Amino acid sequence: MADDPTAPSRAVQLLGWVEATSRRILDTGAGCALGGDARWNDLLTELGVTPLSPSERERHLREGPRRSRGALPIEVRWAIEAVDKRARSWLWDIDRAMRTEHGDRYIRPIEHKLYGMVEETIRAHLSATVVAVTTSSIFANARATTPSYAHLGKKAGLEEVKCKTCGAPRIRTGELGPCAYCGGELA
Ligand SMILES: [Zn+2]
Repeated sequence: MADDPTAPSRAVQLLGWVEATSRRILDTGAGCALGGDARWNDLLTELGVTPLSPSERERHLREGPRRSRGALPIEVRWAIEAVDKRARSWLWDIDRAMRTEHGDRYIRPIEHKLYGMVEETIRAHLSATVVAVTTSSIFANARATTPSYAHLGKKAGLEEVKCKTCGAPRIRTGELGPCAYCGGELA
């Protein structure tokens, strides 16, 4: 049985890193200028995440759910997914190096922290950066940019679907992948 004496302290360190980094993603992501700023870009770089290109950022700002401030939801998702992925690979190494009976004490709390972390972070980010306007006007911007598309959809009998996470509208067209603006499931 593996018994690396440094494994428990590495587990404690990992949990601390996950907690601190997920908090930074929320704080920096919600606190930065609309569409991101230098501090947000630095955090993405630190996490090995490639941001959207400037023109893609502009398009997301124009077409995605309207926000008053903060980083773009899809970049927040990539950032927290990077934390999740890195943490799970470290956790795997630590778990293998640790005595089985230490699992409940050191491994379970990290698994618990990671469980649902990505979706929770996206939702927290969206609610922290939402514009205080009526529901119907939130996405007026997005709809206004695609009037012919919506018209076409209605004519062709296609239904409009909404992202369950950020509410961005989209016309249902065959393959229904994740939401382009936040990476969430569409309903
Ligand atoms: Zn979405």
